[in-house]
Parts: sequence; C-alpha cells; structure tokens
Amino acid sequence: MSHFMDRLKFFTTKRESFSGGHGVLIEDDRKWEDSYRNRWRFDKIVYSTHGVNCTGSCSWKIYVKNGLVAFETQRTDYPRTRPDLPNHEPRGCQRGASYSWYLYSPHRIKYPMIRSRLLELYRTERASGKDPVEAWAAIQQDPEKRRRYTAVRGLGGFVRTEWEEVTEIIAAANIHTIKAHGPDRIAGFSPIPAMSMISYAAGARYLDLIGGVPLSFYDWYCDLPPSSPQVWGEQTDVPESADWYNSTYIIVAGTNLPMTRTPDAHFYSEVRYKGTKVVAVAPDYAEYVKFADLWMPARAGTDAALFMAMGHVVLKEFYVDRPEPYFLDYARRFTDLPMQVLLRKVGKQTYVSDRFLRASDFSGELGQENNPEWKTVVYDSRSGGFVCP
Ligand code: SF4
Repeated sequence: MSHFMDRLKFFTTKRESFSGGHGVLIEDDRKWEDSYRNRWRFDKIVYSTHGVNCTGSCSWKIYVKNGLVAFETQRTDYPRTRPDLPNHEPRGCQRGASYSWYLYSPHRIKYPMIRSRLLELYRTERASGKDPVEAWAAIQQDPEKRRRYTAVRGLGGFVRTEWEEVTEIIAAANIHTIKAHGPDRIAGFSPIPAMSMISYAAGARYLDLIGGVPLSFYDWYCDLPPSSPQVWGEQTDVPESADWYNSTYIIVAGTNLPMTRTPDAHFYSEVRYKGTKVVAVAPDYAEYVKFADLWMPARAGTDAALFMAMGHVVLKEFYVDRPEPYFLDYARRFTDLPMQVLLRKVGKQTYVSDRFLRASDFSGELGQENNPEWKTVVYDSRSGGFVCP
C-alpha cells in the first residue's frame, strides 16, 4: 500500500509540473530527437524495385540522401487493370522492405571469396612452378589434397581473394575438366534470363562455346511445376495472380502464398469475399491454411499420390463413367491427353503405359521426314487412322 501511495505522489508531482508551465520535459535538451528526424530526412525520391531474382517487380519509392538509399516505402499508384478486379496495391514484402539495409550491409558479398584450404593448395602448386592447369590437375589427381577442401564444404572457411586469381582458378578448372572428362561434364547456369539479360547471355554463350551444358533457371531453383509444360505444352505461360480473383474454387499446394508470393497474396484473401472456396494442401499449419475453408494436411512426400488420386477420380467420373463433352473437348484441344502412348506388358495380364507413340514408329507412313522421332501422334476418328497434328 505504501508503494502504491508513493507512485501516486510521483504522478501528482509530474502533473503539477506540466500544468504549472515549468515541466521538466520542456526544459530538457531535446537535441537527441534530431538523430531520429535525420534518419528520415532525404534529398529526393526515385522509383525502383528489387532486382534480386524476385519476379514481384513491386514499385517502391526510394528515398535518397547524399547519394545513398536512406529508406523505401511502397508506391500506391498502380493503374487499375479492370473495374471488376481489386487494386493491385499494396504490393511489396518484408524482404523487399529491408532491402535498402542489405545494400550497405557488411554481410553483402562484394569480393570473390574462396575456401581457404583450396586457395592454399592452389598457391602452393603454383609456387612450385606449375602453370594454372597443371596446378589444378595436381590437386584433383591427389585424393588426399582433394579431400582436404571437399571434406569441409558447408563449414565456411572462406577468405577474400582477387578477381584475377579466382578467374585463373575457374579457367584452369574448366580446361582440366574438358581435357580429362570432356566439355559436356561442365554444367552451368547464369542468372537470370528474366531480369539480367547481359549476365545471362554471357554465361549461356560461354557454356555454348565450350560445349558445356547450360541449365535453365528452373533446373537450378527447382521451381517449375513440371506438370504444366508436360500437360499443356507451354512453360508457365499462365495468367497473372490477379486472375485468382476470377476463380470460384482454389486449391493451393506447394506454395505458402502470404510468405512466398506476398505482393499478390491479397487477391487470394479478397476473392473469398465473393464466396470462393479455398482448399489448402499443407503438411503444416502454414500461413495460407489460415485463409482456407478446408485444410488437407497431406503427409510430406505424399502430395504426388494425392494429386494422382484426384486425377483418377476426374478421369473415372467425367471421362469413363459419364463422358462430359466439355471435359472431352478441353482435353482434346488443350492438353497432351489425346497423344497416343504405347502399352508395355508387365506380368501375364497387366499393361502399363510406356513412352509416347512417335511418327518415327510408322516408318515414313505419316509423311514426317523432319525429326519424326520428336513428333507425337493422335488417332483421328474422322479418317480412322493415326495422324501427326
Ligand atoms: S516481392 Fe518483395 S522483394 Fe520482390 S519486388 Fe516485391 S517487395 Fe521487392
């Protein structure tokens, strides 16, 4: 009780100070507040986005002070695309919002780094008089030397080096691999066709010229849903995220929209106000599950089986038991479903589907001389024979 009374007295004293016009706060030195105000001072605002392999391309106001990025905020001047669609804005994500800090961060890699053990080995070989390719070969051909640096991969231990030295090592490694194993043992990827054409073209051209294997960025990031090009014959040629708003039933799997597609996730929540049903397939209670009507907690690693089961139900109910003209017509015109496949006998009575039937299987009967082994074949019910579409 006495503690409470003390505090009450303190508050009373403060209030008196304020009301009397001689408040302790007013007489305090408030210069400290300038550091806060300076933090948000700027000379000009420019447009930009985050070219860090993010395809979001959100529009940001960049506040520049003394030629440096001071901070950034989201733009809100996107044009309205259609009167019946919600606005695109606000677009942006937490990663983007903190990007201006990363620009000047000591963690940003600005110089070539190399594992110190490898550098030591290489410098020792070079100091003994070997040329770069001989030096690299000496390391690769000695299992103990190779083990010294490969066994500590993933454990850090990088040191700074010079562009000249690191370029020499890469060139020596490439030449050694070509000599010892052949050029097609060099597989590479240069990022990224969608955003950095010159960097992409340089790497792709280099791999082409030496006879290496240029990987696509989908190989590299593993973010291409392969069923899309396999079934529809295009590569992610899909509508933009705003089109989610035109959907009446959404199944989300393999992406955690609010986290991985943050700037567009609002279309996913907004469409629910129209009554769209949302099913979330996720092994965990991920962020996007919260927006869903139904949560299918598929065990990790079983999603392929789950979708094959869904496909089975669709095929059984709408193509076999009750053929639906709409489904049949769509599948014929837009998917690979009408392409003929070969059947392979397994055991006595069982057949499984094998590869596609090709024009080359017809020994010229289909009139396809130009690369017939790459051409799939359909059955034409009008002419009663196989044709190459
Ligand atoms: S999604 Fe995020 S990182 Fe990508 S452009 Fe938008 S704000 Fe930047």
